[in-house]
Amino acid sequence: MFESFNPTPRVLMGPGPSNVSPRVLGALARPTVGHLDPQFIGLMDEIKQLLQYAFCTKNEFTIALSAPGSAGMEACVVNLIEPNDKVIVCINGVFGNRLKENVERVGAQPIVVEDKWGDPVSVEKVSDALAAHPDAKALAFVHAETSTGARSDAKSLCQLAQQYGVLTIVDAVTSLGGNELRVDDWGIDAIYSGSQKCLSCVPGISPVSFSDKAVEVLKNRKTKVPSWFLDQSLVMDYWSGGGKRSYHHTAPINSLYALHESLLVLKQEGLEQTWQRHAQLHKSLHTGLTELGIDFLVDENFRLPQLNSVIIPDGVDDAQVRATLLNKYNLEIGAGLGQLAGKTWRIGLMGTTAHAQNIALLLAALKDALR
Ligand SMILES: *Cc1c(COP(=O)(O)O)cnc(C)c1O
Repeated sequence: MFESFNPTPRVLMGPGPSNVSPRVLGALARPTVGHLDPQFIGLMDEIKQLLQYAFCTKNEFTIALSAPGSAGMEACVVNLIEPNDKVIVCINGVFGNRLKENVERVGAQPIVVEDKWGDPVSVEKVSDALAAHPDAKALAFVHAETSTGARSDAKSLCQLAQQYGVLTIVDAVTSLGGNELRVDDWGIDAIYSGSQKCLSCVPGISPVSFSDKAVEVLKNRKTKVPSWFLDQSLVMDYWSGGGKRSYHHTAPINSLYALHESLLVLKQEGLEQTWQRHAQLHKSLHTGLTELGIDFLVDENFRLPQLNSVIIPDGVDDAQVRATLLNKYNLEIGAGLGQLAGKTWRIGLMGTTAHAQNIALLLAALKDALR
């Protein structure tokens, strides 16, 4: 007969989800209340403020979308881009490609700036693309490419876009809470993230923030947003303060308790301290992997601390090593994605998983599996 589902706990050192702490899981188990209950409305206000802290923004429109990171991506595109708009899309991995797919699906024209997988987005190429297409409406790129482990220079890319008066759409699914990210200082107009990466919350929520300029662009659209669910002009009233709250959809109430708790964990550690912890642990992982003779895919200047793409050594069976880690050590690492499948492993050090204890386990387990 059917039984309750009780998975064996794993150490999640892949590209996400990361481990959810007992503290955050505990928040999930608190009593479900109505989504218009005054208690819950108070919680939503706090979530907005905590997300503003995490994103380093004062943007009034800073919310938690009730869907995973991919929906955050789609929300930015469907709300800000209209048919026949030109969008400069940077592709240096899987998620840049997905951005392009979204741009095409709304009937807009992608101007692709392509870089090698493992390289950051080239600021020079983007500068050339902006000069060649000053009429572009937006520049879209991935800050932390989880498929390769490369960090792009979001600050310089956004500065360039601002010089041309072009909107910026930034994928911060893996960067939020993992490495430096400053929405207001860098002039980011639309940004989306995910709950399950460096925030170490349960999957299924996408923090999103729009600058006032992006909100204006949304309000002045010529056409209706083609997706009803993702139309942020309808969601705005639900998240706005001042008692205007009206029903749009039923929020994932308990998951939002968990998001609130995970943001509280971030605030209590301190944002900059969190970035530093990821950077320090990345260094110690790097030292250990080098001792095992394992090289990194990405040049050291552009490596993400929270996502380490390493080259699978010659003659090593990719799937067998990952299976040994999982079955013998309850340890998950990520396989290579797209054109890097079979060539790389992706070792995540995200959020609560970024801990010295997990690095020691990984290094010992990998040493054993490689023998
Ligand atoms: C994980 C990820 C996404 C997609 O997020 P989901 O929650 O899986 O939909 C998008 N962009 C990047 C960079 C990611 O790492």
